[in-house]
Amino acid sequence: MFIEEFFLNLTVLISFIFLYHQIYRSKFVTTSTRNSHLFSHRGILLGIAGGLLGIVLMHFSIQVDGNTIIDLRVIPLMLVALYGGWIATTITGASIIFFRFLIGVNLSSLSNLLLVIFSALIFLFFASRMKNRWLSIITMLVLSNTVFSFITYALIADFKVYLTINVAYWLITITAGILAISMNNHLLQSNRLFKEYEMNAFIDPLTGLNNVRSFDRAFNGAKQRIVKKQENLSILVIDIDHFKQVNDTYGHPQGDLILKHVATLIKDSCRSVDTVSRNGGEEFTVLVTDLSHVSVSQIAEKIRKNVSEYTFSINNDTLHINITISIGVATYLVNTGDVDDLYRNADAALYKAKNSGRNMVCSYSDIDKDGSNYIKLE
Ligand code: GH3
Ligand code: MG
Ligand code: MG
Repeated sequence: MFIEEFFLNLTVLISFIFLYHQIYRSKFVTTSTRNSHLFSHRGILLGIAGGLLGIVLMHFSIQVDGNTIIDLRVIPLMLVALYGGWIATTITGASIIFFRFLIGVNLSSLSNLLLVIFSALIFLFFASRMKNRWLSIITMLVLSNTVFSFITYALIADFKVYLTINVAYWLITITAGILAISMNNHLLQSNRLFKEYEMNAFIDPLTGLNNVRSFDRAFNGAKQRIVKKQENLSILVIDIDHFKQVNDTYGHPQGDLILKHVATLIKDSCRSVDTVSRNGGEEFTVLVTDLSHVSVSQIAEKIRKNVSEYTFSINNDTLHINITISIGVATYLVNTGDVDDLYRNADAALYKAKNSGRNMVCSYSDIDKDGSNYIKLE
């Protein structure tokens, strides 16, 4: 019964698409840099996956009647052309052609060659040209099926057999094509949402820096590594001076603009490996691993200097103001013996910087247990 085999093919198609998206999501979507370049991992991976699916679908061919077999090999080709570009489509098409020639070199494998090449060209041509997605998908399927009808017309002498094959082929490919695209769209959208939620959960939306949750994650990870290896771990706690006054004078939206710029200045003053976070309000932190306390204090001083020397343009470039920041620094293994005290000690150093006149970097010293011994740098 060919309906049963068709159902099996649809199941294979859908499972494969589902599996691809699961693997793709866990392996690739969560990485921060995902390029859409033609030669990207994604394009090549998609091309290989499409080829594999085409081969599997050829293996599960549908027996229409006694000696007539059709399959859904053009569907992965269409999917790959729509979502992966010409490199990926070439990989998929070549895999399908190669596998078909492995089975045998005959008139049937030659007609497969023609069908795959013409369909790939049709799919690639319409993939980016038509505004209406569904209209372009239907056009692609109709044109590819027309190629199929021409080829089989030349191959099959018996008109009744020709008609049976063609009616079945058109019905099956159009149904499977629409189903595959719907499924793919649905999974693409859910992966996009997944990425968006992940971003929102770990990135501060205003500044693009890590939020407090990713700071905690990075800090806990660093703590474990550092205690094991007995390396240095430092925290810089940074707070904008008199920021309330800035907000009160220029308004909250202008304050937000300044926060964004300060975030960029901090990030640009650190190394790319340092974890820069906005821990809330106008407070930022930088986590630095495996640097001496002196080097970390130099980074802190560089941040302070860069912010104090920067002129912030606000109110659509009509106002230019300067602000300052205060920074507290603490380093585990140098002036903090217990890594769990690190944040508190850096915060205490910041408090000292604020109390000593602001616009300065203060370092915490673990020597005086009463907390009175803060060393002001410079
Ligand atoms: P200090 O030098 O002692 O740090 O003074 P300060 O005014 O910066 O300190 P305070 O903690 O009193 O005020 C922090 C201000 O930061 C209060 C609030 O208006 C502002 N603030 C916090 N979060 C945001 C934000 O997301 N956007 C803007 N524009 N302002 C914020
Ligand atoms: Mg402040
Ligand atoms: Mg504050």
